[in-house]
Amino acid sequence: MNKKYETLRQTLKPAAQLHSCSRLLEWDQETNMPPEGIHLRSEQNKLVHELIHKIKTSKKYATQLSELIDLDSGAVKTSDLSFEEKACLRELKRDYLHEKKLSTTFIKKFAEATTNGLDAWKKAKKNDSFKDFLPYLNKIVTLTRKKADLLGYKEHPYDALLDLFEPDVTVAKIDAIFIPLKKRLVTLLEKIQSKGRAIDPNLLKGHFPIDKQKALSHEVIQDMGLTKANYNLAETAHPFCSSLSPQDIRMTTHFYEEDFTNAFFATIHECGHGLYEHHLPIEHFGTPLAEAASHGVHESQSRIWETFIAQSKPFWQFYFPKLQKAFPDAFTKTRLEDFYNAINEVKPSFIRIFADEVTYNLHIVLRYEIEKALIDGSLQVKDIPEAWNAKMQSYLGIIPKNFREGCLQDIHWSLGLFGYFPSYTLGNLFAGALHFNLNKTYPDFQKRIASGDLKFITAYLKDKIHRHGRTYPPIELIERAIGTKFSAEPYLSYLELKYA
Ligand code: ZN
Repeated sequence: MNKKYETLRQTLKPAAQLHSCSRLLEWDQETNMPPEGIHLRSEQNKLVHELIHKIKTSKKYATQLSELIDLDSGAVKTSDLSFEEKACLRELKRDYLHEKKLSTTFIKKFAEATTNGLDAWKKAKKNDSFKDFLPYLNKIVTLTRKKADLLGYKEHPYDALLDLFEPDVTVAKIDAIFIPLKKRLVTLLEKIQSKGRAIDPNLLKGHFPIDKQKALSHEVIQDMGLTKANYNLAETAHPFCSSLSPQDIRMTTHFYEEDFTNAFFATIHECGHGLYEHHLPIEHFGTPLAEAASHGVHESQSRIWETFIAQSKPFWQFYFPKLQKAFPDAFTKTRLEDFYNAINEVKPSFIRIFADEVTYNLHIVLRYEIEKALIDGSLQVKDIPEAWNAKMQSYLGIIPKNFREGCLQDIHWSLGLFGYFPSYTLGNLFAGALHFNLNKTYPDFQKRIASGDLKFITAYLKDKIHRHGRTYPPIELIERAIGTKFSAEPYLSYLELKYA
C-alpha cells in the first residue's frame, strides 16, 4: 500500500463522514422533521457543507493530492498504485478543481438559499402558488448563474452545470442527442395516438389498503436484492433514494389508496438507485471509487428496473397472481393481458414521474430547454409558467390546470439542481443499451424473470456497473459493459418495437 495515498484517504475521511451526516439531516428534514425545525436545520446544513468544503480545499489536502498527481497535467507521480487508485486520483483532482472554484462564502450562501428554497417550494406547491416561490427561485437562479461563471465554461454557461452531473457533457452534445430524439418521439406518439387503442380507464383503479401496498413494496425490494438489514423505506411527497453508506440505504415512496401503481413503480425505481449505492465497494468508502459514475448512470439503474423490467410481461407473469391475492376486489376478474396493456398505456400527462415510457423524455426535453434559457438569461424566472405551458402544448398537446401539475411539480429547482434533468434521459438511453445487452447475454432472460428470478439482473448490474464506482467515465463504463459503442438506437428501437 502506498503511504501517501493512505494519508490522503485519512485526510478525506472526515469529509466523507460529514457528507453522510448531511444526507441524514436531509433525510430527516424530508421524512420526520416538524415544520419549525427548519430554522435551525438551515444553519446545521450550512455548517456541515462549510466543514466539508474546508477539508476539501485545505492546504494540507491540496499538498497531499499534488504530491500524488499533477493538478495541471493530471500525470500521476508515483508508480506503485493500482489502476483503480490512479483513477481515484484523477477523479479527486477533478473534484478538487471544482471545489476550489467555489468560495466557502458562496457555498454557504447557496446552501442557505436552497434550504429555504426547499421549504418555500413545499408550501408553494401545497398552496398552488408560483408567486410564493418566485422570490426564492429568483435567488437560486441568480446564484446558479454565478456558479456557472465561477466554474467556467467554453461555449454555454449551462455547460458548467451539466459537467457537475455528467462529466464532459455539453449543451452541444445534449442538443445533438435531444433534437433528433424529440422528433422521433413526437412521431411515435402521433402514431400510437392515431391507433387509438381503447384501454379501460378504471382497470387500475380501486381500493388498495396502504398496509397491503407496503407489504408488496417490501417484498419486491427484497426480491431485487436488498434486505431489511440494509434499507429503510419511508413516505414523502416526492420519492427519492439516499444512502448514508453502502450498508444504510434510505428510500421513500408515496402511497395512494385509490391507485397502487404510483407507489409500486416508484419503489422499484428507488430500489434500482438503492442497489447501486449498496454495491459500491465499501472498502473505498469516502473516495470516488465508492461513488456512482454519474447521475445519468445512476438513473439508468433505476429506469432499467422501473420500465424495462417491471413494465414487461414476464415480470407480471410472476407478480400478477401476487397482486390479485393482495387486492382481490380490484383484480380477481382482470386478465393479465389487459393489466399489461393498462400499465403500459401511452397517454400524455402532466406529472413527469408518472409519465409513460414514450412521453417521459419529452418532459425532460421541456425542462432542459427551460433551464438552458434561464441560465443564459433568455428566459426570466417569472415567465416560467408561460414557457412551461407553451412547451407542454407543443410536445404533448396538453396544458396543466394548475402550478402543482405544472412548473411546481419537481423538487430539483428548489435544491438548486440545475443541469440535472438531462441525466434522466441519458439514464434511459444507458438503460436501453444495458437492457439490449442483458437480452443478448441471457437467451433465457424473459423466462427467468417470469419464474420470479430477478437477482441474476442485480448480479449483472453489480458486476458491469456498480462495483466500478467512478473508475471509468460514464460513457466508457457503459461501453465496457455492453462491449460496443454507445448510441440511442437500442432505446429507440425498443420503444418503437414495444409500442408501435
Ligand atoms: Zn431516479
